[in-house]
Amino acid sequence: MRHIAIVGSGPAGYYTAEAAQKMWSDDVRVDVFDALPVPFGLIRTGVAPDHQSIKGVSRRYEKVATSDNVRFVGNVTIGSDVTIAELQELYDAVVLATGAPNDRTLAIAGADLDNVFGSAEFVGWYNGHPKFAALDPDLSCKTAVVVGAGNVALDVARILAKTEEEFAGSDIVGHALDALRDSAIERIVILSRRGPHDIQMTPKELGELGSLQDAMPIVEQGDLPPVETDETLDPGSRKSVQLLRDYSQNAPDEVSPKRVRIEFDFFASPAGFSGDGKVSGVTVERTRVEEGRAVGTGETYDIPAGLVVSCIGYRTSPIPGVPFDERAGRFANEEGRILPVLYCVGWARRGPSGTIGTNRPDGYAIIERIAADIEGGSGKMGREGFDALAEQRELDIVTFRDWQRIEEAEIAAARVGAPREKFVDVASMIAAGGAAQD
Ligand code: NAP
Repeated sequence: MRHIAIVGSGPAGYYTAEAAQKMWSDDVRVDVFDALPVPFGLIRTGVAPDHQSIKGVSRRYEKVATSDNVRFVGNVTIGSDVTIAELQELYDAVVLATGAPNDRTLAIAGADLDNVFGSAEFVGWYNGHPKFAALDPDLSCKTAVVVGAGNVALDVARILAKTEEEFAGSDIVGHALDALRDSAIERIVILSRRGPHDIQMTPKELGELGSLQDAMPIVEQGDLPPVETDETLDPGSRKSVQLLRDYSQNAPDEVSPKRVRIEFDFFASPAGFSGDGKVSGVTVERTRVEEGRAVGTGETYDIPAGLVVSCIGYRTSPIPGVPFDERAGRFANEEGRILPVLYCVGWARRGPSGTIGTNRPDGYAIIERIAADIEGGSGKMGREGFDALAEQRELDIVTFRDWQRIEEAEIAAARVGAPREKFVDVASMIAAGGAAQD
């Protein structure tokens, strides 16, 4: 028998659990830990609430989670409730699948002003992550600046631009829907420090901006490189750039019947935020691209803006006792190996890149490596040992059955047409999970 602990119940965690099942069938016991009382990590609190089809992948994780040899151990923080060293003692392999839940920050003047947020905070707010549910962004301004040219910047811009009707069928949390309903934002500026050929936005997601009910994307024709240079791009990027070309047909100065303008500002890097307590403006430095890198030109201009969301990537949370690569913002590892018995997978291994599906081969690869390292298992105590420790520490563990009760309560509380209304604080989740004992 092998005993595997997986820390984190998002895509990387459950694909790893699935791979362990496939590798060892009945000869493995897998415990999937999560600091929250609810599973699925990024699927619940990262993927945009209006992307329900992407969230549907959690049904696959559910199949893994409800099988006999895998269990969910929610509401347990590894690193404080239980140490990594303790897990290493108890399990044959400990796999950190903790993702990258913290914002990379912009080290520029004014970054600590009110209403300047990182995307982990802002996305966590509209997705009801307990840590960020009380963020309460002020949307009473006319202009918002979104920093970054990746899919998260697109998510944030789209959520800010949608009408209430367009959230039908989404699971955006009630507090965010209320705030967005009253939003005064009519201009969203996306700052991209490089050019149209360098965006990280994928065509499907970028294309969504073109069919919004009451918002229009605008690209300045002068920012686009000659059309023949698109041939150097891979097919996906070429499609994205074609969309930018389409959006450049939306004349920037024309009075649009649509309420919100989403303006792409290329070769533009934030140099500082100004304001008295709260942000009221962004100083932007014009850039040029040299050998693929954005270089400041010294030319600056100001954008009056009352909300800033910086979407420039994420970092993994360090865990005491686990070697950390500060520069890369993830665990120090060699192909997922950190220390004896200790591994990492997904964003915690490679940084915040790729799609949800990228985590599947990652999970299968780490189990291959673990299989080579541990062979037949070492007679460790596994979950029995953990249960004894949890009892001694009086940990309030949330099981998958408890989560199913939480989910039932969320479904019952849903707005008409919505899949659920999420609990946004840990106490309510735990209360709902324990509401009716089996
Ligand atoms: P990302 O794709 O890496 O994009 C980050 C953006 O921030 C880049 O445009 C980058 O520019 C810019 N940036 C970084 N540091 C900056 C700085 N100091 N100043 C100005 N700009 C800066 O990251 P992401 O958008 O956070 O997405 C993370 C991952 O999740 C990606 O793999 C993404 O595709 C995925 N995702 C997918 C979906 C979906 O499929 N629907 C939705 C959301 C996220 P440079 O390129 O110049 O560095």
